[in-house]
Amino acid sequence: MIVHDSHCHFFSRRFFEALGREKHGLVGDATAESVARELGWEAPGEPLALARRWVEELDRHKVSRAALIASMPGDEGSVAEAVAAHPDRFTGFFVNNPAAPGGLDQAQRGLALGGMRCVCLFPAMHRYRLDDERVVRLFELAAEHGAVVFAHCGYLSIEARTRMGLPTMVDLRFGDPLALAVTAGRFPHVPVIVPHFGGGFFREALMAAEACPSIHFDTSSSNGWIKFVPDLTLADVFRRALAVLGPNRLVFGSDSSFFPRGWRKVVHGAQQAILDEIGCEDDACRKIFSGNFERLFGA
Ligand SMILES: [Zn+2]
Repeated sequence: MIVHDSHCHFFSRRFFEALGREKHGLVGDATAESVARELGWEAPGEPLALARRWVEELDRHKVSRAALIASMPGDEGSVAEAVAAHPDRFTGFFVNNPAAPGGLDQAQRGLALGGMRCVCLFPAMHRYRLDDERVVRLFELAAEHGAVVFAHCGYLSIEARTRMGLPTMVDLRFGDPLALAVTAGRFPHVPVIVPHFGGGFFREALMAAEACPSIHFDTSSSNGWIKFVPDLTLADVFRRALAVLGPNRLVFGSDSSFFPRGWRKVVHGAQQAILDEIGCEDDACRKIFSGNFERLFGA
């Protein structure tokens, strides 16, 4: 079965340096290498070297294509470089904060870069509502560029920050799928991806998806949020999501991010086993693992 991964983070040199600056202040003291050592992760090198590392990793696991997320505002250039070098393997996503000064201009510039197909919102981290007028403006930009909007809802923790001992000032109330539905409903032709099945706001995410046929879920990560719902299993989650959204609106993702861990084969294996267990038809599985990705981002 062909596998495309709709959710991988591209932790570039600039991403590591920004963490270092935040923790240690002086730029000179916070090289990507020193931050990588502190995290116990591999240093990323230059974007083209990291892109090469990803290609080899995807080859090793027979993953055909991957979405690479520029994981902090302003780092879209790093992913654009990776995509330009390997356009048949990578699709560019980037994090944007439309509520920051100049944020929407940054989104516009990012969407104009070659290979950038999706803009990612983290409202709980950046503290704005998903029905805010600036989010509406962002959807307008996505519509103009034929891009997809990724909106993180529900529980949010950022492993790199936790490991560095950096506070993550999230306000989880902003990650409300029902607020997203208000905006998504105005832009039926802008596809939306809600990662991790709504990340704990599963019921609300299902309601939002029922109301808005443009809303997709990604299946990514170990979906640790299921611990917030008594007796819920990941098999139940897949069954329910298939019942409400159908197989055309689920996209596989692993939420892979750092090396040496690399591609999270275990996430793929667990989800494949669950889809087998619940009797998901081959055609539906093909859509989840590659077909829907191709519809959203091109064959
Ligand atoms: Zn992620």
